[in-house]
Amino acid sequence: MDYRFTPEEEAFRTEIREFLKVELPPDREEGEEEEGDEGWEFRRQFHKKLAARGWLVPHWPKQYGGNDLGIMEQVLMREEMGYARAPLLDIFGVNMIGPVLMMYGSEEQKKQHLPGIASGEVMWCQGYSEPESGSDLASLQMRAVRDGDDYVVNGQKIWTSNAHRADWIFMLARTDPDAPKHKGISFLLAEMDAPGITTRPLINLAGQHGFNEVFFEDVRVPVKNLVAEENRGWYVGAALLDFERSGIGSSAAVRRNLDDLLGYVRESAGDGGAGRDGTARHKLAELVIETDVGRYLSYRVASMQMRGEVPNYEASVAKSYLSELSQRVAGAGVNIVGLAGQVRPESPKWAKLQGRLTLQYMVALGQTIAGGTTEIQKGIIATRGLGLPRG
Ligand SMILES: Cc1cc2nc3c(=O)[nH]c(=O)nc-3n(C[C@H](O)[C@H](O)[C@H](O)COP(=O)(O)OP(=O)(O)OC[C@H]3O[C@@H](n4cnc5c(N)ncnc54)[C@H](O)[C@@H]3O)c2cc1C
Repeated sequence: MDYRFTPEEEAFRTEIREFLKVELPPDREEGEEEEGDEGWEFRRQFHKKLAARGWLVPHWPKQYGGNDLGIMEQVLMREEMGYARAPLLDIFGVNMIGPVLMMYGSEEQKKQHLPGIASGEVMWCQGYSEPESGSDLASLQMRAVRDGDDYVVNGQKIWTSNAHRADWIFMLARTDPDAPKHKGISFLLAEMDAPGITTRPLINLAGQHGFNEVFFEDVRVPVKNLVAEENRGWYVGAALLDFERSGIGSSAAVRRNLDDLLGYVRESAGDGGAGRDGTARHKLAELVIETDVGRYLSYRVASMQMRGEVPNYEASVAKSYLSELSQRVAGAGVNIVGLAGQVRPESPKWAKLQGRLTLQYMVALGQTIAGGTTEIQKGIIATRGLGLPRG
């Protein structure tokens, strides 16, 4: 077992770092790109610059706009992007629907959708959760009824991130209400500007508009937008969740938050600050160990992908560990920095670490819920990983 990267991989990492240094101003505030039209435009342009280098989907085949590079290059990209706090990629297109279309999509669907994702031109959102269906996703009630060459879709989705910005949505809808609940669901693609779709903003704890409710009223979705067979959508949707949970940028993002905190503590040590406080020192040492563990859990997921396997319970292990770790790091930050750690960037005179700590703390809370809660991940690990019977 060799834990080192090859010289070529290290050279690629340096190339990415240089690119990020030029494209991301050092005083950029975390999260600002998610807010408002100007920020969104910055994010889109950044995507396009990545795409122009074939870096948005480096490991995709060239015919779909990728660069034919290995999974390892993608890991390096995500690590460097996560550490640099680069604007989040179109995770729904790049990490989720793209790989799923490669596995389950028709040739026509691949040709229609993959190049737009790879070029950063077309943004996606995910229509899974409904007001009464989150963890128990298979209970979803959105209906799609076949009418000639279309499905007529009615129902509501909720917590739909970026729905107000996205061009397309992939979603799960019930096509056979009489079948057992997992077996009557289909996986559909719809254009967000289709007549009958409306979105309503939901503001999160940190005051940001990322989520939405999305309403469907007699929306006509062409049958050609059905992915895989009718009533087999649950299996497509579940594979997509494995890709979602395999997101590996987060271990680097957590490490960056911790490094910033360590930098602050080192600087304040001379004033008798947290650097000399036994409890804080042990906490920080513990978090460094945990961040290393998180990184290696991510690498396990990547190494499975390199072997052509779809990570399953292994993705749940990494997802639950890293999402809880990001909360522990954010919590330690707020506690160690004390009252000044709770000041937002709007008060630069008092704010420490550019006022990021409270935002990190609030955003981290959602991470153990998004993509399936920690309790659901533990259920998957128990059943699929440990072979235990369902609880
Ligand atoms: C930041 C963020 C982004 C999101 N983005 C999207 C998106 O883009 N698209 C989308 O479709 N959804 C999105 N979601 C929604 C997310 O998928 C759901 O919130 C999640 O699946 C949980 O569903 P719920 O909120 O209905 O909670 P519930 O399912 O009602 O769960 C409530 C509580 O009960 C627990 N629980 C439920 N069932 C079990 C069980 N069997 N065993 C043990 N405990 C259980 C849960 O762990 C949780 O603590 C997002 C959520 C967040 C936080």
